[in-house]
Amino acid sequence: MKGFLGSLCRLGGIRGYSGTFKRSQLRLEGVKDVIAVASGKGGVGKSTTAVNLAVALAKNCQLKVGLLDADVYGPSVPMMMKIDRKPDITEDKKMIPIENYGVKCMSMGFLVEKDAPIVWRGPMVMSALAKMTRGVDWGNLDILVVDMPPGTGDAQLTMTQNLQLSGALIVSTPQDIALMDARRGANMFSKVDVPILGFVENMSFFKCPHCGEPSFIFGKEGTRNAAASMGYKLIGEIPLEVDIRKGSDEGVPVVISAPDSVISKAYGDTAQNVVSKLEELAKEQTLHPEINL
Ligand code: ADP
Repeated sequence: MKGFLGSLCRLGGIRGYSGTFKRSQLRLEGVKDVIAVASGKGGVGKSTTAVNLAVALAKNCQLKVGLLDADVYGPSVPMMMKIDRKPDITEDKKMIPIENYGVKCMSMGFLVEKDAPIVWRGPMVMSALAKMTRGVDWGNLDILVVDMPPGTGDAQLTMTQNLQLSGALIVSTPQDIALMDARRGANMFSKVDVPILGFVENMSFFKCPHCGEPSFIFGKEGTRNAAASMGYKLIGEIPLEVDIRKGSDEGVPVVISAPDSVISKAYGDTAQNVVSKLEELAKEQTLHPEINL
């Protein structure tokens, strides 16, 4: 029975099933859904995806969106969202997230000096992550997008267990070496009973600016096949594009600088798929309330 429920859970069927680790039941007050954007490996475009997805959720889906940069060792949200100041503090000592492009943002990068190395041991990282979640006055949000630290270590597990995540999105490039770690990332979430919303393939292909032919630099359909082999869906395909990189470096996400482009449509479709998957999970939750064995 446990195995059966476990597989249903991996497919996002029953959210209350407790696996090896127990998922936290703590909620962030005022926040409807918290989703993790994760990757097994660094450098695959996790932060870029999290940023453009958050902005697309706000802009295209008209949701109240927050973005938490939990990548404490390499915070990139300040640069990608062009935010260069420290957050104000409320009377009850909570940090007020800084808003840009319609998204409320919080990042360790707001709190440390630019270029300063972040040389923290585990407990300091945990306490920083706690401050950046519960120590923030998020207000009312439909969705909080969490840009997770890469990998499947202590920090990821703490975040996963301390937030009641509605689901996780796995970002990977299509080559085998990245997919191996993406699978590990997905398995970590299912172990702690967090449904996988789907996989997003970043740098899917490169469209030659001269002849228009697509080149599959990192291989073709790798992420779709990896997702399918685990019973998950590919819910986004983002091309390798100069404008995406430029947007990250210049602090103007491509969904803002080129809203009518094919790239922005790809992010918009991904955002829509995330919303649909969350709605589907919420329905299942009503049909199958928490079952704890
Ligand atoms: P991660 O968060 O996985 O470490 P980043 O989001 O920081 O990765 O991306 C790493 C680099 O790749 C950044 O310079 C970013 O601008 C670039 N990048 C990410 N996705 C794309 C893409 N689809 N096309 C072009 N450049 C990209």
